[in-house]
Amino acid sequence: TAHLSQMLQRIEASPTTAMTDRAIQLREEGRDIISLSVGEPDFATPAHVIDAAKAALDAGATKYTPVTGTMALKKAAVLHFARDLGIATDPSRVIVTAGGKQAIFQAIAATVSEGDEVIVPAPWWVSYPQMVRFAGGRVVPLITHAHRNFRFDPGDVEALITPRTNWLMLNSPGNPTGAVYPAEMLRGLAEVLRRHPQVMVLSDDIYAPLNYTDGPHATLANLAPDLAERICTVSGVSKSHAMTGFRIGLATGPQWLIEAMGRLQSNSTGNPAAVSQAAAVAALEGPQDFLIQWREIFRRRRDLVVAGINAIPGLSTPVPDGAFYCFIDAAPLMGRFDGDDNKLALHLLEAGVAVVSASSFGGKNGFRISFATSEDVLAEAIRRIGAALA
Ligand code: PLP
Repeated sequence: TAHLSQMLQRIEASPTTAMTDRAIQLREEGRDIISLSVGEPDFATPAHVIDAAKAALDAGATKYTPVTGTMALKKAAVLHFARDLGIATDPSRVIVTAGGKQAIFQAIAATVSEGDEVIVPAPWWVSYPQMVRFAGGRVVPLITHAHRNFRFDPGDVEALITPRTNWLMLNSPGNPTGAVYPAEMLRGLAEVLRRHPQVMVLSDDIYAPLNYTDGPHATLANLAPDLAERICTVSGVSKSHAMTGFRIGLATGPQWLIEAMGRLQSNSTGNPAAVSQAAAVAALEGPQDFLIQWREIFRRRRDLVVAGINAIPGLSTPVPDGAFYCFIDAAPLMGRFDGDDNKLALHLLEAGVAVVSASSFGGKNGFRISFATSEDVLAEAIRRIGAALA
């Protein structure tokens, strides 16, 4: 560790990746492990996207592109932000990144200085606090609760704002809780933000199509266009179009921020893969109707998992309104695991199901499962979890 930088020493490898690695290892030893730890749709990438990628390779998409993305993809992203999120933007305020993850990392790294504060609703996606700490910022947790579907009041945010606050992270539909923020809540939040001009908002909308409430997707930049200069909205094709391996993310925000993110990108990864960008154009400009079918499949899986989990003594979960995760409380059982939910997760792994502990996400006394797998596999996983905890 003598050679590790101060910045690197502030962060850890992603715990979700660690659990997935352990599951793969057990599988290689011949064990039958169901992985509910990974945040990835099980669907095949749509054929028209694959065809576009092949055609792009044949047409020579094997070279550098502009660092922040091709004009073709920026235009497709402008279409996507308008059509799917109700956000008006233009190519000069769009950046294409290697996954949504890179967009968020760059937004934080480009703006957070030593001692700055970032409000992050907890339970959180594992990478948010790591990115903040890497930049030298301080994570200010905004604790949310299962009995309120992991939503919060605008006043809860205002109580945490200080002169050093420079970001509020929003993630709806959310990982790991499945929380969906209603328009009313976001309007209230906009009121608070108007009183605190030092606060920027990072709205991570990567799960937008996976909303089971039947209402339209609500996002801050659409509801409060007067705050557009302070909002960075992140989207992509990874989760929505089953394209995690292509590594394409999209962000829009104020021009100064998009340029700052591009400055970082030009000195680190350079452009996202040319072939992936061509595939993403096809994904965003091609048919979108299959997304509705996928959403219905996810909704059925969700209902199966929620019913199955809530039938196991000691486990409970609210009904997640979006994304493909259930955040499960196991507090009544924690005595058997010395109060350590990582031990609970390891116990379930030994019983043949890979999950991720709640504490990995800044929660406690439970675990997260992903229901992005078939109903048969989910039913078997629930049977194993029930048996392991009986
Ligand atoms: N944001 C959230 C909340 C996520 O769960 C993920 C993926 O796990 C990402 C962003 C990043 O997605 P990607 O970098 O694969 O596009």
